[in-house]
Amino acid sequence: MAVKLTVLGCSGSFPGPGAACSGYLVQSPHATIVVDLGSGTLANLQRHIDLADLDAIVLSHAHPDHWVDLAGLDVAYRYAQGREAVPVYGTAGTRQRAEHLLGHLKPTFAWQDLDDTSHISIGDLTLDFSATDHYVETFAVLMTADGVRLAYSADTGPGWSFAEFGVPIDLALCEATFLAEREGEGILHLSARQAGSMARDAGVDRLVLTHLEPRTDPARSRAEGSAAFGREVSVAAEHAVFVV
Ligand SMILES: [Zn+2]
Ligand SMILES: [Zn+2]
Repeated sequence: MAVKLTVLGCSGSFPGPGAACSGYLVQSPHATIVVDLGSGTLANLQRHIDLADLDAIVLSHAHPDHWVDLAGLDVAYRYAQGREAVPVYGTAGTRQRAEHLLGHLKPTFAWQDLDDTSHISIGDLTLDFSATDHYVETFAVLMTADGVRLAYSADTGPGWSFAEFGVPIDLALCEATFLAEREGEGILHLSARQAGSMARDAGVDRLVLTHLEPRTDPARSRAEGSAAFGREVSVAAEHAVFVV
């Protein structure tokens, strides 16, 4: 098996009608993790794996659309599965909000604060981080396993690039909150055009756009992103699977 990315939710900044916020299941031959756990993603995650098989959770930043289902996962582990010390990697700001919402992190979770020198191994999967251009401390994630590299932008404005990782990227999952007509409205997010242009300049091989705001037409995002990237991009959809 190569590395498999399953979209659990991809609605940008708030849930859409019947649509979960950001969360991605990443499975390598010897690791199963989720990257972000926004509202609705815990329900969708259980269509793909048993929660007992989750090795770790990575949370990109403290905005609620990226982590609040950690609260439901805590209840599932405490009362249904009796699991403790499940590794969670996130920013200090996310930890503070999670402690407040959950009332505790231990014993369910063993939390490790991230910084952009963090280098984490989970089974055969290694994770590296890069601080993005966003409203709060936010980390993009580079995931390497089985000879392939996936990268996730998390949320970012145009002041960050996949090139920050300094390695070739086989598949990049990039936020594209807006269409070009709204560039500048949320200055620390990207349009599909900006995402395509940045990924092209960074030498990304395959590009998947995500975190589209609910009112955004995915066909227009795909068209604007593809024109800027120079070849066809994909747009994330719930339960879509990408194998690298
Ligand atoms: Zn977001
Ligand atoms: Zn955000």
